[in-house]
Amino acid sequence: MEEKKPHHVVCFPAPAQGHINPMMQLAKLLHSRGFLITFVNTDFSHKHLLRSRGADSSECLDGFRFETISDGLSSLGEAMEDPVGFCKSFQENCVSPFRDLLRKLHHPSDGSRVTCIIADAIMTFTLKIAEELGIPEVLFCSNSACGQMAYFHFQELIRRGLVPLKDESYISNGYLDTTIDWIPGMRDMRLRDLPSFIRTTDPNDYFLNHHRDQAQNAFKASLIIFNTFDDLELEVLHGMRSMFPPRIYTIGPLSLQCRLMTDRGLNSIKSCMWKEEADCLKWLDSHEVASVVYVSFGSTTVSTPQQVTEFAWGIVNSNRPFLWVIRHDLIMGGHSNFPQDLQYKIQERGMLVSWCPQEDILAHPSVGLFLTHCGWNSTLEGISSGVPMLCWPFWADQQTNCRYTCNEWGVGMEIDNNAKREEIEVLIREMMGGEKGKEMRKKALKWKESAEIATKEGGSSYTNLELLIQELLRPRE
Ligand code: UDP
Repeated sequence: MEEKKPHHVVCFPAPAQGHINPMMQLAKLLHSRGFLITFVNTDFSHKHLLRSRGADSSECLDGFRFETISDGLSSLGEAMEDPVGFCKSFQENCVSPFRDLLRKLHHPSDGSRVTCIIADAIMTFTLKIAEELGIPEVLFCSNSACGQMAYFHFQELIRRGLVPLKDESYISNGYLDTTIDWIPGMRDMRLRDLPSFIRTTDPNDYFLNHHRDQAQNAFKASLIIFNTFDDLELEVLHGMRSMFPPRIYTIGPLSLQCRLMTDRGLNSIKSCMWKEEADCLKWLDSHEVASVVYVSFGSTTVSTPQQVTEFAWGIVNSNRPFLWVIRHDLIMGGHSNFPQDLQYKIQERGMLVSWCPQEDILAHPSVGLFLTHCGWNSTLEGISSGVPMLCWPFWADQQTNCRYTCNEWGVGMEIDNNAKREEIEVLIREMMGGEKGKEMRKKALKWKESAEIATKEGGSSYTNLELLIQELLRPRE
């Protein structure tokens, strides 16, 4: 009798940490349910992953394979220096190699079939390839639903003449405070709360147009997966579901869905692009409950030495112990040379690392506050751990996530874009000891509970993941 082959899913995240992490979590969940997985990295991610001794393309857990395709980038440094060039490069250069890879993997005539492609929602060029080859595809959105809903309305913002901005003065003349009350399911929004790419005066701005186009293309998908949960983004998801034909599957927080995974092989596959300094967990052990400020601006934020120094003063002056991730490429033009008195205070109160196991850090009882750039993974990890957040959004959908964190979910406060040490100090003190901070901690613990309920048996995300799996297993002609 012919042996039944497992369903084969090809997972293709965009080459950035915040995209690879949740896609990897989904891939692991599917593998644990019997799917054969091919996880596709581009050269850029592959080199980073190798450098951190994470996944290796030669690594081949039974039924979990890695493939690497060319993205046309010659050096790792390029990405940080030129985000537009980086994005263009992988969007353009990955098309042929991805098609070739699928041709290699998908041979229905001899029984080697790719059951489904799960591709990043910012790489909708994959939809055309999937159609050409007759392979079903679903999109995976690593943004928040609120961030994605804003992208879905870039077209309308342009049509209404609200963006691009008329001239540079519109950034600071109050125009960004214009109320936006017509996006379904989004309340109390201002232009400034929409993704940063609207802050341009150039009608041909690459990111503005790229995100508009990607969002419009995403409508063509039959199904979109979100790493969020229904209770958290209820109204915006309701708005989205009522507007668009694609079915929306909310299956997050994926990190919580993965928490019960016991397969040692799977757990050993890491997706971090920088080497983790796990010692900081021991350092946290020596601190009191909810006493430490954890500071991290994610994987793509870059900052001036002056701004980092301003943060450092604000943080040390708050007089709280702190753990701060300063990536090697965080500071423009190299490392910040802190003045000696500041250096001394940093050593006295804090620990600096270049990368850490963030989910474990946030889950550690000593962490009482997360100073974050509001990347969606970080935000969701903060919510899943019940840790209130001090928000300093940098770009992309981080402005929208910040607005929701502070206004809708009541678990955060925002730092001014041009952050000054006094403001940072005052806000940390308030969040760690003040009445508002206490209130936010209570709310954060409630959201943690909601996230756990959503991912437990019977919860919305748990059920949606089951439905997604059934959908992927559905026989097709
Ligand atoms: N992260 C980590 N260690 C660090 C800093 C960040 O593991 O020292 C992880 C974090 O847990 C999150 C991801 O990197 O999963 C960053 O994604 P996010 O969407 O928050 O921000 P981005 O990097 O995309 O701006």
